[in-house]
Amino acid sequence: MPDSDPSSIRPGKIAIIGGGFSGIMTAVNLARLSWKPLHVTIINHRRPTARGVAYGTRRMEHLLNVAARNMSAYPDLPDHFVNWLRTRSDYDTVPELELRERFIPRMIYGDYLRGLMQHNLQSPTGSDVLRTTFIEGDAIDVHPQEGGAVIVLADGTRVGASRIVLATGNEPPSGLPGAEELQDHPAWIGNPWHPWENRLPPSGGTILVLGTGLTTVDAVMTLRSLGWQGVVHTVSRNGWLPHSHFRGIEYPDFPPPGVDLADLGLKKLVELMEHHCARLREMGANPAIIVDKMRPHTQRIWQRFTLEERLEFTKRYAARWNVLRHRIGPETHAQLTTAQLTGHLQVHAGSIESVKADGNQLRVHLSGGKTLTGDLVINATGPNTKFKQTSSLLLQNLLHRGLITPDETEMGARVDTDYTIINRDGQRSEIFLALGPLLRGTLWETIAVPELRGQSRRTAETLLGPTAIRSEPEPVMMEYMI
Ligand SMILES: Cc1cc2nc3c(=O)[nH]c(=O)nc-3n(C[C@H](O)[C@H](O)[C@H](O)COP(=O)(O)OP(=O)(O)OC[C@H]3O[C@@H](n4cnc5c(N)ncnc54)[C@H](O)[C@@H]3O)c2cc1C
Repeated sequence: MPDSDPSSIRPGKIAIIGGGFSGIMTAVNLARLSWKPLHVTIINHRRPTARGVAYGTRRMEHLLNVAARNMSAYPDLPDHFVNWLRTRSDYDTVPELELRERFIPRMIYGDYLRGLMQHNLQSPTGSDVLRTTFIEGDAIDVHPQEGGAVIVLADGTRVGASRIVLATGNEPPSGLPGAEELQDHPAWIGNPWHPWENRLPPSGGTILVLGTGLTTVDAVMTLRSLGWQGVVHTVSRNGWLPHSHFRGIEYPDFPPPGVDLADLGLKKLVELMEHHCARLREMGANPAIIVDKMRPHTQRIWQRFTLEERLEFTKRYAARWNVLRHRIGPETHAQLTTAQLTGHLQVHAGSIESVKADGNQLRVHLSGGKTLTGDLVINATGPNTKFKQTSSLLLQNLLHRGLITPDETEMGARVDTDYTIINRDGQRSEIFLALGPLLRGTLWETIAVPELRGQSRRTAETLLGPTAIRSEPEPVMMEYMI
């Protein structure tokens, strides 16, 4: 079959489904590492390619929640993002230490990723071995065939590949009781990552934001930057808003010397953490230091937990963990505090029992009998993590055919240590790999850039195998200049 046939399958034809950070950086790493000619097809829909959900925002008040120094897209070039920022006139005179600690607008981080894509995958000076095809479309199914598989897109396009990478990213929040009736209601925003700013009630109205995490922070920042003067109510089970990043103290006592945190098991680990958190509090320091010090060990600890321990952690401790772990920049936090002090932001604790229409408004019923009424209600309860209830037709089809299967916790897809999918029969897939938020149940810590940059590189290495990897390319200054 001629190579010009997009549905043909041949060795060296790789398809990546999902063109956010994970998908694009997998392709970029293939371009850097391979000495063998490859043809990579990147299939992406809904979100701008390279930017994805997080960095596709058009709003400058949506900031990274990780400091610039830790946002390099490459695991082996830690200062790459900070050096790239220096190429912009708005950052080139900022003192080095200050720039490294800044929380940069996510839109600008999207520019960085777009630049990496353009330089490595689209420009004639990019890769000498990688040919890249970009397809804007919704992959809905995959049919395995001799030597690979054919991907079917919603418009009927067929793409052949010998290997397929699933980089489909975060799913929208799952529905809430009663929300299925509200899809066309003018006051209901089911997906907080679609623009909703043109649907604001007049100032003086009420907006409910369901969930108290980072997406709620985005919503409050947008309303403040638009000068909207009404009241925002936000609700979650515990009513905890994200904490602020802070400058920690040296605390060499954790992990205690000679102790491998992954050996402890959940009960002893919690005891140890609580002991050290209490000590830090006594010293007047922030106990979140312990959560930060856990980060290099988290994936290994999670993998050594028994299934019961993983489930107990998600049930009893995950909310507390998340609020300490996923923090926001001090300036954003200060704005949030001001909104609370002035009464523009009111935080409630309670379980959402139902959402119901009441004329042009919506009523949200909480446990304990409390009801909140909103002129606009945004579902910001966080991405769906029940894998079997995925809203992705592609993932539903792959699950149905047993080509992928949920991990033990059922939060994502089951993978081997090199990110090769394990299928329903317990076999390593000859076709599929997965990375990013799909690995939540396997790794727990798998959604932010500091983890995803390593995963993208590892995925590229798995695809190539040891014999197709060329020696490490020297990081040239030109690459910093993109
Ligand atoms: C609002 C928000 C803010 C965040 N902020 C930060 C931050 O400041 N710092 C940080 O480190 N991390 C942040 N994150 C975490 C974020 O998940 C990762 O940094 C990263 O963007 C995830 O990239 P991804 O490629 O895995 O997924 P995504 O960015 O979600 O990209 C997946 C892409 O695949 C496409 N896709 C899915 N299914 C199909 C299909 N069937 N066919 C075709 N295309 C498909 C999607 O439309 C999307 O374009 C944030 C996340 C969110 C949601």
